[in-house]
Amino acid sequence: MLCKICDSELIFNFKLNEKYEYYKCSACNLLTRVPDSLNIDYQNDYTNIEIISKPRNLSKKYYSLFSSIIREGASVLELGGSFGFFCQYLNNRKFCNCINIEPSKIASEYSQKLGVETYDNIDSVKGQLFDFIVTFHVLEHIEPAHIKDLFQKLYSMLKTGGQFLIITPNAESIRFKKLRNKFEWLSPEEHISFFSAKTMRKLIEAHQACDIQIYSAIPAFTHFPHTTFIEKLRRKYLPTQVQIIKYNDQEKIKNLKSSLKQILKNCFHGFSFFEKCFYFPFYFFYESLSKEKDELVVIIKK
Ligand SMILES: [Zn+2]
Repeated sequence: MLCKICDSELIFNFKLNEKYEYYKCSACNLLTRVPDSLNIDYQNDYTNIEIISKPRNLSKKYYSLFSSIIREGASVLELGGSFGFFCQYLNNRKFCNCINIEPSKIASEYSQKLGVETYDNIDSVKGQLFDFIVTFHVLEHIEPAHIKDLFQKLYSMLKTGGQFLIITPNAESIRFKKLRNKFEWLSPEEHISFFSAKTMRKLIEAHQACDIQIYSAIPAFTHFPHTTFIEKLRRKYLPTQVQIIKYNDQEKIKNLKSSLKQILKNCFHGFSFFEKCFYFPFYFFYESLSKEKDELVVIIKK
């Protein structure tokens, strides 16, 4: 098997279960799940309104990270902007002109209600050029066979001098290398491609980007992986099911059973938050000492 980014040999890394194995590129360190095909219907089955506070909090983090880079009045394209919070912040606080590309029906509907111009497909904005293109925790969902084309397409949609801002899990993270199949971001059903700084440089090479900055960072508390003991219990006994609920649906939960379930779930979420607070200092300390942290941050200038 060859790497779909740089055509070098893929080498077996570890086996997760009967269904999935992981291979790493010998040259660019791209780590890919095999089979490397997508099993999720992002239009219908992905986003869940129950977890809406998470994308909202993450968007605040992304905003604080990049608000000094994205200038007032800029045109911005966000790939996979979920409920549209990041675009909304930029529109309201920086008077930007943001477009969110989001396949999930429920998330894109919400994003539109926030006043963000939203489409389900990148081809809907073909021909437009942007000052900034941003994508946070999306590239790991893309099949390796499509990465180069997607990158090429996005790069061609940048104005000269425009910037491409990316956040994705770091394939070279010390914790990832140590934990392997227990790494919280492995999420085998949805995450297929894990990038390293080297993979990014390989991707960029072909485009002669004039300025790049690649570093790894400690994820925000809100993105601190969620596999606490209590969260595992919650997932086992009260698994989240995807429900299509309208964002402004104020209807009370109709029957006692489902409302009890919801109360229990909220208790689990509350307790797991405290458990997370307990683990966080250790996690933070460990990450602070590592050269390769969990999150890869990439800034490319055209
Ligand atoms: Zn490679």
